[in-house]
Amino acid sequence: MALSDIAEQLEKSDPSLARYNRQMLWEPIGIAGQKKLKASRVLMVGCGALGTVLANTLARAGVGHLTIIDRDFIEINNLQRQVLFDQQDIADQLPKAVAAKKKIAQINSDVQVEAVVADVNHTNILNYAGGCDLLLDGTDNFETRFLINDVSIKLNIPWVYGACISAMGLAMVIRPGITPCLRCVFETVPPPGMNPTCDTAGVLGPTVNIVASWQAMEALKLLTGNINAVSRYLFSFDCWDNRYQQLNVAKARDIADCPACKHHNYEYLSGKFASSTTTLCGRNAVQISQPAGSKINFEQIAVGLKAVGSPSFNKFMLKCTINEGQGERQRQHELTLFADGRAIIKGTNDASVARAIYSKYVGA
Ligand SMILES: [Zn+2]
Repeated sequence: MALSDIAEQLEKSDPSLARYNRQMLWEPIGIAGQKKLKASRVLMVGCGALGTVLANTLARAGVGHLTIIDRDFIEINNLQRQVLFDQQDIADQLPKAVAAKKKIAQINSDVQVEAVVADVNHTNILNYAGGCDLLLDGTDNFETRFLINDVSIKLNIPWVYGACISAMGLAMVIRPGITPCLRCVFETVPPPGMNPTCDTAGVLGPTVNIVASWQAMEALKLLTGNINAVSRYLFSFDCWDNRYQQLNVAKARDIADCPACKHHNYEYLSGKFASSTTTLCGRNAVQISQPAGSKINFEQIAVGLKAVGSPSFNKFMLKCTINEGQGERQRQHELTLFADGRAIIKGTNDASVARAIYSKYVGA
């Protein structure tokens, strides 16, 4: 029987598979692969540029369960590349994870999505990663990537790294114990300010789509059990100058004395390198995190903020532009406060200024 006939028969017996017909026609996936996708659980860390393309692609492909963690809210300059969001989400002041869940429900309601509005860090990542088949990198910083890397090795779950800036991209599949890990290849986090970011050097939509689509393709291979097809190279490209490379990193594991995959010393997961204040590079903003379990009463805080601005809030977050001082000494900061007590303060790169604003208007 031809594969197309099998796919047709199966659709008749299980109409929920009809939407995947074109995907099941690809023999290495077929019906068995489709069922594996439906049974799989994926953790997506970060739902910005790469994350929205990944979530969109995997939800359409029929991955059964997606946990999406993101700490941020949506801004107008995100819409150029963050494909799951629109202007209404900004008007509704939806956090990215919540907006993504809402969109996916419209695209494929068979996919179970857990939206987590939180800063993923060493205190909480294991709560979300346990029981997952795959971890996906939709982050924009090395600290979180090394944290994912530690979790991947500790729990023996593969993950797919992805990064992009301007017209350049990098991506790699990490399979614990089989391939080099991210720390075998990169060793340490670049110091703050040393690396250009999307906010300083810009990023083009197609760059994001190429990296995230490469990650999604490897994800489909891993989740459907097509292990032999999975890339063992570091994929690198500059699509403005039309340079594409597959770098052989197989020896990196032998050469590097990797603390993570050789010594099982999880320096990021243990909190050794964790920070509670993060300068959001290039964004003129600082994030302040709170210990897990913190809770915020927006109503109460809004009352206090009325003296210096016009706060608005919904059940997810509170926003307020804070005006302080007069004349030449006048300063303006934008406070975004989340229900778990975490805040992003725009208008400064100085952690102490941000902490002062937080303690003054939110409480220490
Ligand atoms: Zn390693």
